[in-house]
Amino acid sequence: MRDEVRIFPLGVWAVSTSGETTSFLVDAGSTRLMMDVGLNPGHSLAIHSIPLTTVTHIFLSHSHSDHMQGFANLVFTRDTQQRQYGPAPRLNVIACGADLGRAQSLLEIFYPERKFDIDWTVVEPCSKIDVDAFQMTFFPTEHTVPGLGVVLAKNSKKLVVYTSDTVACDAVQEAADGAHLLVGECFGMQHDFGAVAKRMKHMCAEEMAELAESAGVLRVMPFHMHTPYTASDSRAHLINAIAARFSGEVIDPVPSRPIEIFLEEVSDD
Ligand SMILES: [Zn+2]
Ligand SMILES: [Zn+2]
Repeated sequence: MRDEVRIFPLGVWAVSTSGETTSFLVDAGSTRLMMDVGLNPGHSLAIHSIPLTTVTHIFLSHSHSDHMQGFANLVFTRDTQQRQYGPAPRLNVIACGADLGRAQSLLEIFYPERKFDIDWTVVEPCSKIDVDAFQMTFFPTEHTVPGLGVVLAKNSKKLVVYTSDTVACDAVQEAADGAHLLVGECFGMQHDFGAVAKRMKHMCAEEMAELAESAGVLRVMPFHMHTPYTASDSRAHLINAIAARFSGEVIDPVPSRPIEIFLEEVSDD
């Protein structure tokens, strides 16, 4: 069997009026890691017929609602789905200390009567942790609130780099260096959103593409797109703006479908 990881883009929009907001599932067989949870992760996973009980790890990048709001509902629904799918493995939630505290508060607010079996893993910029056969290395983002991005590697191969929300900065550039797939923030194009992106500390398509190119990334998947790009012609402009500056493969994450990474095709770090 080929050693394979699949990335499901569950939510790729910056605002909830456009569609499900930021959330990805990294499916590596027995390890199923969510990178942020969006607003309604239960529904996003159900679309792909993935029981919530098979999610083993949740990484929360920062405390904005478009990334974290679905957390309590995910934990609760995963718990109740055990009646349907059988016992779930113990859940591991990974974030910086302040955001783990916020995630715990969300559970206390919405489910004060329940106790959930959760391992809480505190990480900070430059932390490295092992998650089964994978290594996760965290880096600081430069956003309106403190946040973390993550590099997911296996056997020294950088499979996925997830920027979360950030401006293009040295830490992101370094993290992306030599990666196979960059899941890169892309608020919009400069002429549409340059000023607001700068003020709210987001990356635009042009910056993300240039960062990916200079980091020698092979594939790029933009996310965190704003409302105009729900229209297919506007999104084609956005994808073309990236492709004009980036020599690798540009993946349009709409409609949501899994992106496959075969480990033997990924070069060593
Ligand atoms: Zn944010
Ligand atoms: Zn966001």
